[in-house]
Amino acid sequence: MSGWEAVIGIETHVELQTESKMFCGCPVRFGAEPNTTVCPVCLGLPGALPVPNEEAIERILRIGAAFECTLVEGSLFHRKNYFYPDLPKNYQITQYDLPFCIDGHLDIEADGEEVRVGITRVHMEEDTGKSIHGSETGRIHDAEYSLLDFNRSGVPLVEIVSEPDIRTPEQARAYAAELQRVVRSLGVSDARLEEGSVRFDANISVRRAGDDFGTRAEVKNMNSLRSLQRAIAYEIDRQIALIESGSEVVQETRHWDEGSGKTSSMRSKEESEDYRYFQEPDLVPLHVDQTWRDRVFAGLPELPAVRRHRIAATGVDRQAAAVMVEAGDLADLFDEAVSLGSEARTVGNWLSGDVVAYLRRNETTLADTHLQAEHLQELAVMVGEGALSSTAAKDVLARVLAGEGSPRAIAEQHDLLQISDTGALEAEVEAVLADNPDVLAKLQSGDLKPIGFLVGQVMRATGGKADPKVVSELIRNKATAG
Ligand code: ADP
Ligand code: MG
Ligand code: ZN
Repeated sequence: MSGWEAVIGIETHVELQTESKMFCGCPVRFGAEPNTTVCPVCLGLPGALPVPNEEAIERILRIGAAFECTLVEGSLFHRKNYFYPDLPKNYQITQYDLPFCIDGHLDIEADGEEVRVGITRVHMEEDTGKSIHGSETGRIHDAEYSLLDFNRSGVPLVEIVSEPDIRTPEQARAYAAELQRVVRSLGVSDARLEEGSVRFDANISVRRAGDDFGTRAEVKNMNSLRSLQRAIAYEIDRQIALIESGSEVVQETRHWDEGSGKTSSMRSKEESEDYRYFQEPDLVPLHVDQTWRDRVFAGLPELPAVRRHRIAATGVDRQAAAVMVEAGDLADLFDEAVSLGSEARTVGNWLSGDVVAYLRRNETTLADTHLQAEHLQELAVMVGEGALSSTAAKDVLARVLAGEGSPRAIAEQHDLLQISDTGALEAEVEAVLADNPDVLAKLQSGDLKPIGFLVGQVMRATGGKADPKVVSELIRNKATAG
C-alpha cells in the first residue's frame, strides 16, 4: 500500500456492570434465562417512566476522567428514534450534543511508537435487547425465525468515540487493548469481548498521503482483538483496491465475517438527521457540579500506563511489568511483596514468568493458589542469602503455589537447600583440587578455563547442593594463592 495511508476512528461500547439497569431497578446479570430480568420500563410498556441510575453516572464520569476528559456540568439525555424489534420503545435514550465527557485522550504504544489518540466524547446510553436469529450463520438473511431476549434492554452502556487519529491495524489493536485495561482498572466493567461487555466498531478510510480524509466505512462484529486487527487490515486493502480500480468507497456499515476473513455490506450509513434526535422529555437535565467532578478525579486509581512505568522503574523489565499490570492481581501481589522489602526484579520475573506459566498449566487463577506476598519475600531472601539456587527457587515456588506451605519449610522438607557456607565447602574444594593436580597447575599458570570442570566436580561431590558461585570463588582463591 505504498503511497496510501489509512485513517481509523473507533467507537467503543462498554456495558457497565452495575447492580441495576440504567433507568429501572432490574438487575444486570449476564447469562440469565431469557426475559427474566425485565420490567415495564425496560420493556417499553405504556406509561412507564425512566429514573436514572446514579452509580452508572458515577462510573461514566470515572471513565471520562481516566481519559482526562472535561466532565460536562450540564448534560442532557436525548431520544434517538428508530424501529427495530429489540428496541421496544422505538427509541433509545442516549446523549447527543451534551454528553457527560468530552475532549480526552488515550496514549498507546504500537510498533515501538507512542501515539496519542484523541477521545472525542464519552456518552451514556442504554443497551438494546438481543435478537437471536434462527439460522446456522446467526444472521437475519437466512433465518426462519428470530427470538427476542430483553434482559439486556436498558443495561447502562457507555460509548467512547475516538478521533480519527489511528493509522494502522496494529495501532487500532493497541488502542482497544489499552482501553480495556483502563476500563478494568476502574472496576466499572470487565470489558470482555467474548461476552459482549465491550464492543469495538471501526471506522476506516484510506487516502493518499497528504490528501483530505476519504469516505469511511464502519465495520462491526469483531469478537476478538485479533479479528479487530484483521478486519481493519482487510478493509484497508479492499478500499485501496477499489479506488485503484477506478471505483469509489461508499459510506456504509459493513459486517466482518470471521470465517471468510472478509467484510460485506450490511446497510448504507444513516445520517444523524434520520434519527430525529430530541431532548428526552421524561428526564430532567443533569447537573454534575464541581464538587462531584473533583471527587471523581481524586478517586481515580493508578492507571495501567502509570503503573507499568512505575513498576518498570524498579528494575523489572518492561515486558514483565506489562504482563503483571495486564493481569492486575499479579501487579497487586508484586507491589505488596516489594513493600515487604523483596528484590523487585526477582519477584517480577517469578510473577510474570513462573507464576503465569503455572496458572496457565493448571488452568487456575492467582486467587485460587496459595501464593502470598510473604512467600515471595521469604523466597527472595533465601535466594539472596544463597540458601536456594535460582533453579531450586522455581521448584519451591511451584510447591508454594500448590499449597505445600512456606518456602523455607518446603526447601527443608525436599532437601533443596544449597550449601553456600564457605567453611562447609572449603573441605570439598580442597579434596577436588587434590584429586586433580594437573588441572590445578593449569589454573596456577593463568589458564582459568578449567574452573568450570572443577566446579562441576564439587557440585557432584555435594549432590548438586553447593552454591556454584561460592565454589567458583573458592577455587579461584586457591589457584591464585598458589
Ligand atoms: P457517526 O455519527 O456517523 O457515528 P462520527 O462523526 O461520530 O460519526 O464518527 C464516528 C467515528 O468515525 C469516530 O470514531 C471518528 O473518529 C471516525 N471517523 C470520522 N471520519 C472518519 C474518516 N474519514 N475515516 C475514518 N474514520 C473516521
Ligand atoms: Mg456512531
Ligand atoms: Zn427493567
